[in-house]
Amino acid sequence: MMQGGAQTPLQHLTTLLGADCIVTEPTALEAVNIDQLRTYRGRALCIALPRSTADVSRLLKLCNALRIPVVPQGGNTGYCGAATPDASGTQVVLSLRRLNAIRSVDPANYSMVVEAGCILADVQRAAATAERFFPLSLGAEGSCQIGGNLSTNAGGVNVLRYGMMRELTLGLEVVLADGRVLSSLTALRKDNTGYDLRQLFIGAEGTLGVITAASLKLFPAPRASATAFVAIPDPERAVQLLSHLREASGDQVSSFELIPAVALELVTRHIPGARRPLDADSPWYVLCELTSPRVGEPLEHRLEDALAEAMERGLATDAVLAQSERDRREFWQLRENIPHSQRLEGMSLKHDVSIPIDRLPRFVARASAWLETHVAEGFLVCYGHVGDGNLHFNLNERRGVPPGTLAARREEIRRIIHNLVQDEGGSFSAEHGIGQSKLAELQHYADPVELNLMRTLKRTLDPNGILNPGKVLNVA
Ligand SMILES: Cc1cc2nc3c(=O)[nH]c(=O)nc-3n(C[C@H](O)[C@H](O)[C@H](O)COP(=O)(O)OP(=O)(O)OC[C@H]3O[C@@H](n4cnc5c(N)ncnc54)[C@H](O)[C@@H]3O)c2cc1C
Repeated sequence: MMQGGAQTPLQHLTTLLGADCIVTEPTALEAVNIDQLRTYRGRALCIALPRSTADVSRLLKLCNALRIPVVPQGGNTGYCGAATPDASGTQVVLSLRRLNAIRSVDPANYSMVVEAGCILADVQRAAATAERFFPLSLGAEGSCQIGGNLSTNAGGVNVLRYGMMRELTLGLEVVLADGRVLSSLTALRKDNTGYDLRQLFIGAEGTLGVITAASLKLFPAPRASATAFVAIPDPERAVQLLSHLREASGDQVSSFELIPAVALELVTRHIPGARRPLDADSPWYVLCELTSPRVGEPLEHRLEDALAEAMERGLATDAVLAQSERDRREFWQLRENIPHSQRLEGMSLKHDVSIPIDRLPRFVARASAWLETHVAEGFLVCYGHVGDGNLHFNLNERRGVPPGTLAARREEIRRIIHNLVQDEGGSFSAEHGIGQSKLAELQHYADPVELNLMRTLKRTLDPNGILNPGKVLNVA
């Protein structure tokens, strides 16, 4: 309770930014209070909608002085509850959606500077307008924001060729917890002047600073592509097929996605208009794509020849090439609709893991065998960016089991799967981050020296713990 005359935090914020930048309307709050997977529900004090980096700076300075916790939120498409406020009713959700300018596109330098509230698809379009290519691409690209992509070090379907957000970023503008602005929107590829501070904020999930703008790398626009949907006997053959295609194409593979039969079945059952590209059944499929910036490059022939050879060698059993842009889009829709179909099917447990590619088939075999014997309540939907060693090793609740049976075993199942991941030299979080959902996992699996350094960094950059508290690390 505030004493007579003293302002409430909400009044302070409103005085600072103006009433049109502070939202308390219940429907708007409802949308930011719940995460993408509907696992976490919080209660925000308000949503702050700054108009500029200077506004963000003034806001954080005030929040730091008054110890008001701030939860940055982009498109709220993340899978770890990282952008959801807690239930205290004291946390400000900070949305940068008004900071959505493309500040510059420099085709000669193959770079662009964009504000953090830009929607990813808008960034891709701005690059394409300048005949350049920004390669980050993922299912949520119509709503996720660059600030969120950076803060989760997002991956997506082109990592194999172009890397994750860490590799795609030249510089950042970041507002620190005390309101100071770190302005390093460099367009340089080479700059060895001390520590690489930008990498601290990429993947930090809003716990070390608020990203307000970024300088991003661009590439020559792809002018030719060839896409195939391939039936394969097992993940072992997927790994061999990837090596074969990389060699046969001169390393022109930009995407290589593993899809199990069960995922294809879910998508064709739940998504109107989705159809199977191949008639014959196969336990596994791969969606692969070659791209080149050279106009008229005969990629289709190259892919066709490489796949014919793969079939002779027993790496694939059947394949179909996209004959048109429409076919290509349909193939990709099948892949991109897997998460949505899983949601339509019912409750699921998600594990976003990565394993060195050569050990990936053994991990799949070991983890599947354990699940088959011990988890009758669920069925495995294991798919993903296998070219990067990244699998979404998910379990859907079986129809007919009492609702909640699978969820009740969440922690036990997760620990066994993550132990197997560790045993195979992998990571329990490949591209989705830590957020709230994997706090205990980080504590359990991280090297103690690493954890200690992370806490030291957090305390140094955010001594009052106002930035996204309770996410990534628990700092006493
Ligand atoms: C259908 C679907 C497909 C997906 N596919 C992929 C995929 O292939 N690869 C992948 O990596 N992810 C994928 N995701 C997960 C998600 O889209 C990404 O993690 C995305 O990068 C999150 O962006 P966002 O703007 O929604 O961030 P949010 O979910 O809003 O926030 C994520 C984190 O970033 C922080 N944050 C947001 N903005 C800022 C900022 N300006 N400064 C500091 N911190 C900030 C938040 O506090 C939070 O910690 C998918 C999600 C969906 C729904």
